[in-house]
This record gives sequence, C-alpha cells and structure tokens, in this order.
Amino acid sequence: MNPKITFLGTGDAIPTRSRNHTAILYSLAGENILIDCGEGTQRQFRKANLSPTKLTRILITHWHGDHILGLPGLLQTLAMSDYQRTLELYGPKGTKKTIEQLKIITGNIKINMNVHEISSGIIEKTNDLEISALSMKHGPPSVAFAINVRDKIRLDKAKMKKLKIKPGPHLKQLQEGKDITYEGKKVKTSQITYHQPGKKVAIIMDTLFNPNALKIANKADLLITESSFSQQDVALAQSHNHLTAAQAAEIAKLSKSKKLILTHVGQRYPDKSVLLNEAKKIFKNTELVRDLDVIEV
Ligand SMILES: [Zn+2]
Ligand SMILES: [Zn+2]
Repeated sequence: MNPKITFLGTGDAIPTRSRNHTAILYSLAGENILIDCGEGTQRQFRKANLSPTKLTRILITHWHGDHILGLPGLLQTLAMSDYQRTLELYGPKGTKKTIEQLKIITGNIKINMNVHEISSGIIEKTNDLEISALSMKHGPPSVAFAINVRDKIRLDKAKMKKLKIKPGPHLKQLQEGKDITYEGKKVKTSQITYHQPGKKVAIIMDTLFNPNALKIANKADLLITESSFSQQDVALAQSHNHLTAAQAAEIAKLSKSKKLILTHVGQRYPDKSVLLNEAKKIFKNTELVRDLDVIEV
C-alpha cells in the first residue's frame, strides 16, 4: 500500500503554457487528499482522468491566490456533481473567515464541509494515515504538512498457508500482536506476521528557510518543496519569502529525507535545469516534476 502523488499543477505564481498553478493530489486506499488548489485545478483533474468527486480532504498551505483561486470553482463543481461525502478542509489561521468570504462568489456551497483551522501538531488520524502540520514563514499565516502512512502489522499469506491457518476473527488478534491458540496449537504472532514500516510524504510550499521546515521534513520518504528561485537570485527569494532550489536541497539533506521533488517551479527560468542542477549538487536524489506527473512513494 503505497501513496500515489499526482502533480496537477507545478507552476509558481504566474502560470505558463505547460505549467498550471500549484495543486498536488495524494491518493491512498480510499483517501484522496488535495494539497492546495490553484486556479484551473479542476481542469487539471480532467486532464489527469481523475474525478474531483473522489476527494476526501483538502489541505491549504496558505491563502495566496496561486494556491487557492481554484477552490471556488472546484467547490461549485462538487455541489453540482451531487458530492455525497463530507469534505474535510484544513488551513492556517484565518481559513474559516476566508471560506465564509468565498461564499460572496460561490453563494452557499451546497456540500457537507468541515473547516479546520490548524497550526502545529497532529491534525488528523485515521486507521491508515496521520497528518501533521507546522507553521512556516511566508508573510501570511502558512503551514507545511506531513502525511504519514502508519506502521502496520501485516499477515504473511504464504506462512498462513503453510501453517494451514484459515481466515477468521483469530487473524485480527494476530495482527494486534496477540499470540493465539488455533485448532489446539499455539500460534505466535511473529510466526505469520511482519512489520510494514509507514511512509512519510512532507509538503513544504512557499516559505523562507526555517527550522520548522527541517522538523516537518524529518526523514521523509518523499519531500516535496517549492522551487520558485535559483540561488543566483537568493536576495530576491529572501525578499519574497521564498526558498531557492539550493535551500530546498539543504532541507532535504539536513532532514535526512530520501527523495526530493521540486515543484512550484519558477517561471522566470526558461531552462528549468538551472533549478534542478543546483539542487542536485547538494542532494542527488532530486527530481523536478511537470504537470500531471505521477510518483509512487
Ligand atoms: Zn505560491
Ligand atoms: Zn505564497
């Protein structure tokens, strides 16, 4: 069970012919979590042959236009598509008020939606996932997210067959780490189960380099960051509260992450290899994504 990440939009504040504004879809076992929703995101869903009605949650990093202008249209489409779920929406301080203000454009949004204003710490726990957030430094209230697939005890089907153990409620006990007696014989949980370590995906969008970025990225299997600027424009990046690609790579390296993905790619650089190469010099396992790229973690 590995998370699948679809990069619906990989551009920065100004879109280009080939790059839409930021939107990232995280999918795993019935969960479809959208991280940011730049203008045009619902069309990007169509281009990726995905349906927004499967969305379960939306995480907003901050309320800058290039991360949220797709939200009113997407919510209206969900309402017109008879969306049956309850949409859970999480964002930094001010999110509740801003959602209310969106209704000036959308009218009453006729779907079930819970709005969560979050700051730091664990913001959601399900059977499979744990989602946490930490505040970033970008001017308006902003957060970065980590989505963890929780560690699981799994059944080894080959070993079950060998020991002639059939399905039934006793399997649940074994998965809970309890030894059982099965048809008169003792079966230890360690005989037929194995530990499947979780997977961590961290998403850091617009921010200055800051200690919380290292914390949220800590030992991520996949770290996704913005890359609006090259190190040659570090002063400009600083004044706009953004990371450079080199700083993103520093975060990956210092946090001991396994892989770095650069997105929110600076449109000011016609040749994107400038960004990729400077990051790779610091952190080798780096990729720069394009719209509609899919990565399995
Ligand atoms: Zn942005
Ligand atoms: Zn921003």
